[in-house]
Amino acid sequence: MVIAKAWVLKKHFDGFPKTSDFDLKEIELPNLKDGELLLASVFLSVDPYMRPYSRRLMKEGDIMIGTQVARIVESKNPAFAVGAFVVCDRGWRTHFISDGKDLRLLPSSWPESLPKSLALGTVGMPGLTAYFGLLEVCKMKPGETVLVNAAAGAVGSVVGQLAKIGGCKVVGCAGSDDKVAYLKKLGFDEAFNYKTVKSLDEALSKASPDGYDCFFDNVGGEFASVAINQMKKYGRIAVCGAISEYNDSVPQKGPYVQYPMIFKELQMEGFLVTRWNHRREEGLNALLKWVVEGKVKYHEQVTEGFENMPMAFIGMLKGENIGKAVVKV
Ligand code: NDP
Repeated sequence: MVIAKAWVLKKHFDGFPKTSDFDLKEIELPNLKDGELLLASVFLSVDPYMRPYSRRLMKEGDIMIGTQVARIVESKNPAFAVGAFVVCDRGWRTHFISDGKDLRLLPSSWPESLPKSLALGTVGMPGLTAYFGLLEVCKMKPGETVLVNAAAGAVGSVVGQLAKIGGCKVVGCAGSDDKVAYLKKLGFDEAFNYKTVKSLDEALSKASPDGYDCFFDNVGGEFASVAINQMKKYGRIAVCGAISEYNDSVPQKGPYVQYPMIFKELQMEGFLVTRWNHRREEGLNALLKWVVEGKVKYHEQVTEGFENMPMAFIGMLKGENIGKAVVKV
């Protein structure tokens, strides 16, 4: 008999999440029936979406939502061999039973030398967000200038590198000098610390005096309100995330977007990466190839220990991560 550990949402977050909002539970798993598998989580993802989606999808007492890389430890399903690794969305738990329908095998070309945790980051949902957001929403073209914020994070660091591969000039902003140094190492043309610049407006216009063709917005709020005024005519804004607003109990108020939208004839489009689920394989294969070729580099913030999941989640929201924040069980 296997006892799984699981983190549940004890209390809906009010403002910034606290460790006391979570509870660690033990769940006794039944024996496997024919067609079923027992899996053990190896790496779990902590992501910003968990903050807004906890309100939209969960009730108090539910297991926290999330994705993991898991290993098959027992199989009564001939389609899945013991020892294989899969990606699935089974929330914050150490062990679980599946009938196999919700499991996605890692791409068959996954090299042994590559950490499997990348399937939660650069070669996973955040990488796909960068890929489809840039290609399909920003519609970037060679020679254009791309702005990205939260640039040293899971999505942002891939956005900047894909824009460079696509022949663009890239400007990135992040919240510490170490992150800025990381962006330079990744090949960003310009990078600055948005927390220490005297004026965000001036820093943006210094980094690209002619303005921006594409803005990949992970942050929203005040940053977006300032950046929209630096767009070039016919510029495109991909509204990917609004992390500066996720912990607000009272929604922030404008400035409003209509003036720059009208006079610069901008396009602004919100998107969810799931829109391109039917092209997931295309995106993952492209990302994996670039990683293997060394054209896309990665960094992971690995927290050790399942018991530290709430801390890892809160740390990521505070900006403690460079690259993708993951937890190793
Ligand atoms: P990151 O790895 O970028 O981690 C979050 C980062 O956000 C932190 O490291 C921090 O970096 C930054 N941050 C936190 N608070 C603020 C703030 N108040 N103002 C500015 N920056 C802040 O996370 P992801 O790459 O996974 O996600 C980035 C964004 O993309 C999120 O908004 C997320 O919701 C969104 N997203 C959207 C998807 C979609 O389908 N639309 C899919 C995946 C992600 P710093 O030190 O630079 O402040």
